[in-house]
Amino acid sequence: MFTYCPQCASTKIAYTGQRFSCDTCGFTFFQNVAAATACIISGKEGILFEVRGKEPGKDKLGFPGGFVNPGEGAVEGARRECIEEIGWDPGENLRFMASFPNIYPYKGIVYHTCDLYFTASAPELTLSDLTLDTKESRGIRFIGPDEINLDDIAFEAGKKAMRYFIMNRRLKAEA
Ligand SMILES: [Zn+2]
Repeated sequence: MFTYCPQCASTKIAYTGQRFSCDTCGFTFFQNVAAATACIISGKEGILFEVRGKEPGKDKLGFPGGFVNPGEGAVEGARRECIEEIGWDPGENLRFMASFPNIYPYKGIVYHTCDLYFTASAPELTLSDLTLDTKESRGIRFIGPDEINLDDIAFEAGKKAMRYFIMNRRLKAEA
């Protein structure tokens, strides 16, 4: 990630796992895993997806969500991202579902994230209730759980989460 030490500009630097260290001045920097959230929202016409407008995963399907801010809890972050990206507050409806690791390459840097997936049941929710943030996405779609093609979903974690969600749904239906 760094070519020079950010503190003394030495090139005598080393990477050990997530730890960057400078042999000259001792500067140390940890590239820790970042927490991120994603919300699988079930509305009237299916699961809500955003069509991603930016890389990584441009034109693929994604869920409302994003990086958790410093000082913020995961549920709070998930709610904020929903309000920002689709203009809808899931309120108290968010339920933790599962967590998957993810890799998020952005402008030459690879970020490792721990993605926390939440579900929200909103049986009355339709497209007319939503306001899209067009800087993030170029569309919103509801897709029926049986019509979802996992290859259309951005990121390995997104595919895993959808597979997990669909499996749980089937198990519940069979019970
Ligand atoms: Zn240094």
